[in-house]
Amino acid sequence: LEPAYQFMLRVRMAGGVARPDQWLVMDELAQKYGNGTLKLTTRQTFQMHGILKWNMKKTIQEIHASMLDTIAACGDVNRNVMCNVNPYQSDLHAEVYELSRKLSDDLLPRTRAYHEIWLDEEKVAGTPDAEEVEPMYGPLYLPRKFKIGIAVPPSNDIDVYSQDLGFIAIVEDNKLSGFNVVIGGGMGMSHGDTATYPQLGKVIGFVAQDRLVDVAEKIITIQRDYGNRSVRKYARFKYTVDRLGLQNVKEELENRLGYRLGAAKDFRFDSNGDSYGWVKGGNGKWHFTLFVEGGRIADYDGYPLMTGLREIAKVLKGDIRLTPNQNLIISNVSSQQKKKINELMEKYSLTDGKHYSALRRSSIACVALPTCGLAMAEAERYLPRLIDKIEEIVDENGLRNEEITIRMTGCPNGCARHALGEIAFIGKAPGKYNMYLGAAFDGSRLSKLYRENIGEEEILSELRVLIAQFAKEREPGEHFGDFVVRTGTVKAVTDGTNFHD
Ligand code: SF4
Repeated sequence: LEPAYQFMLRVRMAGGVARPDQWLVMDELAQKYGNGTLKLTTRQTFQMHGILKWNMKKTIQEIHASMLDTIAACGDVNRNVMCNVNPYQSDLHAEVYELSRKLSDDLLPRTRAYHEIWLDEEKVAGTPDAEEVEPMYGPLYLPRKFKIGIAVPPSNDIDVYSQDLGFIAIVEDNKLSGFNVVIGGGMGMSHGDTATYPQLGKVIGFVAQDRLVDVAEKIITIQRDYGNRSVRKYARFKYTVDRLGLQNVKEELENRLGYRLGAAKDFRFDSNGDSYGWVKGGNGKWHFTLFVEGGRIADYDGYPLMTGLREIAKVLKGDIRLTPNQNLIISNVSSQQKKKINELMEKYSLTDGKHYSALRRSSIACVALPTCGLAMAEAERYLPRLIDKIEEIVDENGLRNEEITIRMTGCPNGCARHALGEIAFIGKAPGKYNMYLGAAFDGSRLSKLYRENIGEEEILSELRVLIAQFAKEREPGEHFGDFVVRTGTVKAVTDGTNFHD
């Protein structure tokens, strides 16, 4: 008898946009083959957990039949392309979202192996006279995974500085004129190896929108050719950029492109979080951002979240967008339909989370235990309980409505983009975390190690002092991350090479 191996499955869904019927398929598959829940990830897609090996093929086939797929959602290739959810500027979002879909499709591997293995399209191995050619990835693919995201200022919800390759949309005269290009960001590191570090991407220039795919392809070929293939933990593009030098990578890019990038254009980010509740977009349609703690869609005692969303998807004429902060937007709702959606939200107690502290609404946590094999400590299951206690401190200090980004991961791989949380925790061992402080609220500065290997009691006593100080001594409008840097609690980290200093 074969053991009941179980798997995680991740969907490729550029920009996190799902049609209601696709939502219903994912919901049904989670009940039928998964563990009855869905995880909304920090890369705007679904993860399904607990799929038994003998159900994998059926699951993938049913996802494919709904016009979604899982191609290149794992592996040493370009991953799910992220895109700002931007419910305010509907036309701009539509334009940028189309580009993210184009990037996602154009950067797919050409191999038919996925279709052969999972979708029963016959041949399951190559023959010498029928070798597949990967024009961009080549025979060896990339040294590591590669991540791309498109931000639309003033929102940095996709954390553009955390991407291997980021694009910042530039709007001039109310029109999208092109993108600033950001390269060399990444969150992961290894405990105890200071040659590994989270890094912020750097802006290297501007490109017109019709050259977006060209730039992405050429950057990927640079990483393909120069990335470290000897030591896997040094293989991400950020290390390639830091080893070769930013200017050299830019020159190599321009050589491969055959033209020069323009000078970077001005932009400004406000925050890297989500705004909740109803907003009306430029197209007259309504969009409701729903707070989903830890990104876990499930039915909870007294809070039938999964059932409520299923009922909404059954009637919704718009779409559902997954945000980079593990929340979702019930999107493109007409004024006529808004009443019905509101009724359903009330019936199933779905809310914008405004009864929670702003700190909780600014939290994200990776999967960690018990699902992720790399986890050293809890994250998704523990952070809400920790926040219960931090909320008491926040309330005592009159900061219930103060947005402070707080992030937790079960290991230093950084799936919850911990190094860009104003308060951040990385798991070291069960119940023990490294605590980091001082990232910028707009995602432009990294956090810094503040305390090592501490448990809940110490975390709370540290935060009790810091949050009280913040409440009393902050400057008008000052964010928590800026405060702890200004007052010398931690040093500012504006380049990952100084992360461990
Ligand atoms: Fe990612 Fe590590 Fe969290 Fe696993 S434990 S989900 S690898 S950050």
